[in-house]
Amino acid sequence: MLHHEYHRLLEALSELNPAQIEDAQTKLLDLRRKTEAISEIEARAKQGAKCPFCGDDQRQKWGRTRTKIQRYRCSGCKKTYSGRTGSAIARIHRPDLFMVALRDMLGASAPKSVRELARHLGIDKQTIWRWRMLVFSIIDSGSAAIFSGIVEADETYQRESRKGSREWVRHFADPQNVPMPARPRWEDYTTKGLKMMRGLSRWQLPILTVADRGGARRFQRLSNRKGATLERAMKPLVPSDAVLCSDGANGYASLAAKRGIEHFVVGSKAGTRVAAGCHHIQNVNSLHARYKAFIKPFCGPATKNLNGYIRWLEVRLSGMKPAEVIRAS
Ligand SMILES: [Zn+2]
Repeated sequence: MLHHEYHRLLEALSELNPAQIEDAQTKLLDLRRKTEAISEIEARAKQGAKCPFCGDDQRQKWGRTRTKIQRYRCSGCKKTYSGRTGSAIARIHRPDLFMVALRDMLGASAPKSVRELARHLGIDKQTIWRWRMLVFSIIDSGSAAIFSGIVEADETYQRESRKGSREWVRHFADPQNVPMPARPRWEDYTTKGLKMMRGLSRWQLPILTVADRGGARRFQRLSNRKGATLERAMKPLVPSDAVLCSDGANGYASLAAKRGIEHFVVGSKAGTRVAAGCHHIQNVNSLHARYKAFIKPFCGPATKNLNGYIRWLEVRLSGMKPAEVIRAS
């Protein structure tokens, strides 16, 4: 909007009646939500006022980009840039819709499916999928949860998935040069009558979950089910003065013994679930339940993306705001 038109609008505002003011306020709030992403992006440029190309801090305002973000021109190298130049969200055409998708990912209710969200926003499902993967890459930096006091630990499992993998297709297309993949397709268990293993097979991937009573929570993929792997993963998480509660698996027991950590072992059967007083692993068990509920609608995400999904749940539980994701990109 042109400068003088804008001023005329502001002047006209004083003639509104109370009902119209209320109406206009709702409208403005709605617009404010739509441009929240842009406000966040501009705030980034205001903080670190340095050229992303040469690091010069001298610049002048240089109009707005097509997505209505403030553009600057560097006085040193004469290149133009905005708050998102060089960031992970630099090439998003619709920051407003991206913000809606982000709000859906981090909101209190269960996230919509990719297709549902695409239909809702009127854009292609591939775009939503790419945005989701983009958010995964932004939040990937890993949680910095620090544990203290009574620390509970346990593992949950996720079936390995090669969803979207072309390995069998490639093998059938060129059986001479492409060897047969190591793992049968799940459908082979029914069509070829392969024997399905009961319980934990090597295709069940362990995920370590740790929680303390202060609300710190962590999910971490383990490469295998060996005690040594578990011990190595737990080592940096549990301080020496903590009290560890677990199901007594080898990794936990030997870590506690080596570091002199007080260790309470709880059983899985009714009546043995609480070792003494407040020593139980019911917080991690409820985390497992939340994990299962969260992951179920995705029908077994591809294992190559599993870390992203785990981190996504962690971020949801931590109550991270969409604006923080934009700032971290
Ligand atoms: Zn520059």
